[in-house]
Amino acid sequence: MTKQSVVFSDAGALSNSSINMPITLTVAKSSMFPYISGKKKAFKKQQTVEGRINAWVDSMKASSPSHIKSPASLSVADEDYCTWLLRHPSALSMFKQITKASKGKQIVMFLDYDGTLSPIVDDPDRAFMSDEMRDVVREVAKYFPTAIVSGRCRDKVYSFVKLAELYYAGSHGMDIKGPAKYMEENKAVLFQPASEFLPMIEEVFKVLVEKTKSTPGAKVENNKFCLSVHFRCVEEERWNALAEQVRTVLKEYPKLRITQGRKVIEVRPTIKWDKGKALEFLLESLGFVDCNNVLPVYIGDDRTDEDAFKVLRDRGQGFGILVSKVPKETNASYSLKEPSEVMDFLHRLVDWKRLSL
Ligand SMILES: [Mg+2]
Repeated sequence: MTKQSVVFSDAGALSNSSINMPITLTVAKSSMFPYISGKKKAFKKQQTVEGRINAWVDSMKASSPSHIKSPASLSVADEDYCTWLLRHPSALSMFKQITKASKGKQIVMFLDYDGTLSPIVDDPDRAFMSDEMRDVVREVAKYFPTAIVSGRCRDKVYSFVKLAELYYAGSHGMDIKGPAKYMEENKAVLFQPASEFLPMIEEVFKVLVEKTKSTPGAKVENNKFCLSVHFRCVEEERWNALAEQVRTVLKEYPKLRITQGRKVIEVRPTIKWDKGKALEFLLESLGFVDCNNVLPVYIGDDRTDEDAFKVLRDRGQGFGILVSKVPKETNASYSLKEPSEVMDFLHRLVDWKRLSL
């Protein structure tokens, strides 16, 4: 890896940061459903709470690939996918364009974990990545600074990936740490913008575990700076009731907000911090303030990855790659169908780099 002159050493370093990136910790307006209700305030007011939950659950169902295929709709779905692919071509077919754009620039890799490096499985504790995927990520990290950016607790995602040479941004980027070897030198990136929320998150975790006990298959995961309520093993007819349970609990905690992902509800602090901010933070800490000498590539499958895709799009820099088998509204430039294609892409990247040396 290059240019790892990062300087953060502890969570309290925020005010003494030698990095000039503005880090906003302003508490945002409380919003229970920021993704589904942000467009028209007037309309939002008229919606009933029930209506909002329904729309939210419908959206979650629609974004679940397992829900989409029925034989009758297969050809229509395929046609839609092909149309979508024109706007978000496969990163494999655009490989040459991607490497061409990297000329004279340092590629920096950002990888989501669930659904990107590992398949989505029923038990989130068993979302293991394959050894082959681990091997290629290890190779990628030899040539490019590489960060894992996940909604999971940082320790948890590290226990899956097990590569000490990577950067890890857990809890949607609210818990960032650099490679282990830099920790020894006390120079690792370590940044936790939401540490003041820890006691509250812990409390809400306990309440949610208790309240959702009655829903078969519901699982609450403590990701340290945020919580995930998993719907993967819950029957669809119970999704509305479960979402309502979560919403009722969160009414008591206006400093926390709810966002939606693939078969998951996320609970997190209302600070303005997300995977996009984490991407910017890591780029700055790696010393890439100048847009002209870096090419960030971010691969992710989830709604929460859109914040990072949007940052790249707004900066006109690098490429966002969405992992999806179905058409989705996205800020990503390119797409890959599934983790196996992510692995192919990473293999090609490593092979290309080796040949170019
Ligand atoms: Mg994911």
